[in-house]
Amino acid sequence: MMTGRLSPSPAFAALDRAAAERILILDGAMGTQIQQLGLAEDDYTGHGSGHACRHHSDHPQQGNNDLLVLTQPDSVEEIHFRYAMAGADIVETNTFSATTIAQADYGMQAAVYDLNVEGARIVRRALDRATAQDGRPRFVAGAIGPTNRTASISPDVNNPGYRAVTFDDLRVAYLQQAQGLIQGGADILLIETIFDTLNAKAAIFACIQAMEAHGQRLPLMISGTITDASGRTLSGQTPTAFWHSVRHARPWSVGLNCALGASAMRPHLAELSGVAETNICAYPNAGLPNAFGQYDEGPSDTAVQVAEFAREGLVNVVGGCCGTTPDHIRAIAEAVAQYSPRKVPEYA
Ligand SMILES: [Zn+2]
Repeated sequence: MMTGRLSPSPAFAALDRAAAERILILDGAMGTQIQQLGLAEDDYTGHGSGHACRHHSDHPQQGNNDLLVLTQPDSVEEIHFRYAMAGADIVETNTFSATTIAQADYGMQAAVYDLNVEGARIVRRALDRATAQDGRPRFVAGAIGPTNRTASISPDVNNPGYRAVTFDDLRVAYLQQAQGLIQGGADILLIETIFDTLNAKAAIFACIQAMEAHGQRLPLMISGTITDASGRTLSGQTPTAFWHSVRHARPWSVGLNCALGASAMRPHLAELSGVAETNICAYPNAGLPNAFGQYDEGPSDTAVQVAEFAREGLVNVVGGCCGTTPDHIRAIAEAVAQYSPRKVPEYA
């Protein structure tokens, strides 16, 4: 393993200790919480309220949620703080789309490094406030999304050989993101919502390069998403195949998030748990979206299903994805507290 010669970061051992004791809790969705703020274009750019963005773009910014770490930092910090106080041990940065590739839609490529540095700093501030109240250690997970392009599949049905992005484009963009997250104080790097394993491989490569540049090995969490009823990722892999294609990175955890609600995720999670020699992490959506794209599953409904993963010994970390709220996270934390974490097999 490339990072084998690097010494683990101080947070690595603390995270391992916490995970040996109990099932750890990851936070829930940012999108639903941001939506409730009812922000307009001026709020997104920080010209109406908040901090005016010093990066200029001619594109409208409404909906560019990642930009809020620069323009509405207090609101973003408050969301992270609520998740921490609801029971989250690990809280994700609001940087899912903070790469030059994803920010190109908003003309905000120049802001990307700042988005990641500030995104991590804001979570650290929120978690330090929470820890000052209850003494529990908490961890900042730098969130790395899949981008809106795929390196494996042509978006043009008439030109199957065409690719909208190359492996190296992705690697360069992810390296900038990972370095910003580490610079801002991320304890963990979390590559999530993976639908294309080639994109994920570029992200893994970039994370390892960022760790080498930093001189420490950080825990790496890798989370795929099942996109169809046959139980495969968009790039066509089963959970077992997915594990074997990321295993070389010796991630701290592997798991599944998004796309499906908890009950539909269960068989795929069980398969992954059966093959992966590392921690298993699951954070499903609050059920499947309704006709309006909203999630109807209440906190106790989601918690009952996630507790089932815990009862069966399938998981080491649980949380929520789209449609989940601090109330969902609180209910999940309470529901799994009575169960032991899955026993992690050693790497062969
Ligand atoms: Zn999701």
